Amino acid sequence: MPKAYKHIFFDLDHTLWDFDKNSEETLEELFEVYSLKELGIEAFEDFLKTYRRVNDQMWDQYRKKEITKAELRATRFYNTLLEFEIDHPELASTIDADYISKSPYKTHVFPHTHEILEYLAEKYELHIITNGFSEVQDIKMEHSKLKSHFKHKITSEMVGVTKPDPKIFTHALRLAGSHRNEALMIGDNLAVDVIGARNVGIDQVYFNPDRKPHEVKVTHEIQNLIELKNFL
Ligand SMILES: [Mg+2]
Repeated sequence: MPKAYKHIFFDLDHTLWDFDKNSEETLEELFEVYSLKELGIEAFEDFLKTYRRVNDQMWDQYRKKEITKAELRATRFYNTLLEFEIDHPELASTIDADYISKSPYKTHVFPHTHEILEYLAEKYELHIITNGFSEVQDIKMEHSKLKSHFKHKITSEMVGVTKPDPKIFTHALRLAGSHRNEALMIGDNLAVDVIGARNVGIDQVYFNPDRKPHEVKVTHEIQNLIELKNFL
């Protein structure tokens, strides 16, 4: 028998808010503003690719608690520029500050985001569980007009642990007043959202727009958010 869900928990980045598109648009602006071509980075695409690799590595380290938020922010653009033999800590920290302040104001969301949230909000209580920083995630939700759909917006910074740590999920359930059997977690990351939720007994929806192959057993899998209507 299908479960009677009452609470739906959404991941934010790469699930509703189109992080890659928003990030790329911001980085392209910064590439121009700081004349990075004149400093020796031939093409924006090279800068983007290198930044993404460096940033992903550092986020992994942050999740494993090997580095702090301050270290992540102080180093990711410095290390990116260094790969192009630009050794310029002041420029790196200026770019980082600009990136942090500008990108959350971008408003690209995945197809059907607003439509599906309006549909679901009529039937369920909706919440966010995100591994981002509180002030940044709040600006994203506000400016993309997502915020009003969600009752509780739980960030890892608030709870002191990141997904997939069970504590962030149990904290979210407690805050929402939800039993785990009434809850559903929707996210794009198998290790973080799907397995994290599964480990505390919450059903999961794996949002997999690129149809990445995997062998993880998930409750539901979708390629487009509108498919949620098929079972919710
Ligand atoms: Mg995500």
